[in-house]
Amino acid sequence: MAHVIGEYIDRLCSVEMRPQGNLPRGVTHLLYDAARAAQGDRPLTLLAASALLERVRKGDHVLILTGTGAPPGLPKGETDGPLGAAALARTLDLGIGAKPVIVTEERLAEPIKAAVEAAGVSLLDREAVRRRSHAGVLEVFPVGIDEGKNAATRLLDTYRPSAVIFVEKAGPNQHGIFHSILGYARGPDIMGSAYWLADVARSRSILTVGVGDGGNEIGFGKIRDAVREIQPFGRVCRCPCKGGVATVTDCDILVACAVSNWGAYGISACLAFLLKNVELIQDEETERRMLESCVNAGCTDSVVGAQVPAVDGVPLGVQLALVRMLGAIVSTGHRVIEREF
Ligand SMILES: [Zn+2]
Repeated sequence: MAHVIGEYIDRLCSVEMRPQGNLPRGVTHLLYDAARAAQGDRPLTLLAASALLERVRKGDHVLILTGTGAPPGLPKGETDGPLGAAALARTLDLGIGAKPVIVTEERLAEPIKAAVEAAGVSLLDREAVRRRSHAGVLEVFPVGIDEGKNAATRLLDTYRPSAVIFVEKAGPNQHGIFHSILGYARGPDIMGSAYWLADVARSRSILTVGVGDGGNEIGFGKIRDAVREIQPFGRVCRCPCKGGVATVTDCDILVACAVSNWGAYGISACLAFLLKNVELIQDEETERRMLESCVNAGCTDSVVGAQVPAVDGVPLGVQLALVRMLGAIVSTGHRVIEREF
């Protein structure tokens, strides 16, 4: 039954809804199909959930990286990413008893912390987290290439995580340049070089999962050629590097979806199904609190371009409906009804 549940969770999380304008339309299903074909044609959220369940044990640390965007448009980051990270932190805490370690750049930390704490995971110091449940650690990731490499090694040595998850975390192209989906460059002086964590974790056989919706995020290195074909600026960007927005950074598992938060929610929903506990996917009340806290602490909707409770241009009501539907897929999936007529 899990593959049926995973199939429809994937479909729900990959329904594209975006305003018209200059942002790419009609790309979500193409990226999804390519990601799926590259990974044995299995539901992607289930693939990630199953791998996490196999590798993560009670008390283990799991690194969760999120946070993207830069001034002037997104000075404290965007609403896509932090809520997905918060949902996964909550699910891994409640479902497995894992200790989430949230990793982001200093500039983006405040609203991410707000979202994670609104999900019921307190961010405390490492010693306190060792001695209590429903808590995790916030680690600031530096900007700069060498600084990123050192931080990656330090974090992996310190926490010895059983998994590293990236939600909407920018990855570099073949020239080492980060790009927005519209092809504009973002330098390593403003974006943390978090790809080192993916590369070093993989070299140590630590499970890595990348969740994204564009092809410029960590994980999409798995289908780089497809991203270069599908995205309008995939092959050639608008910056002098001319290398395109497709990232080279790969993960063990790539979850491609319509909104990165939704891919993370989908993983949570699959974990909820596998662990037979529908409460592992946040309810509407919690989702509302997570989004409002995140926005109040400074996050901007990257599509609307305003500090409003929406994600990628999709309003709060749809986010609430989505978590409700995910919960319903999980709960009905465990319900037994034998129809008699
Ligand atoms: Zn470029």
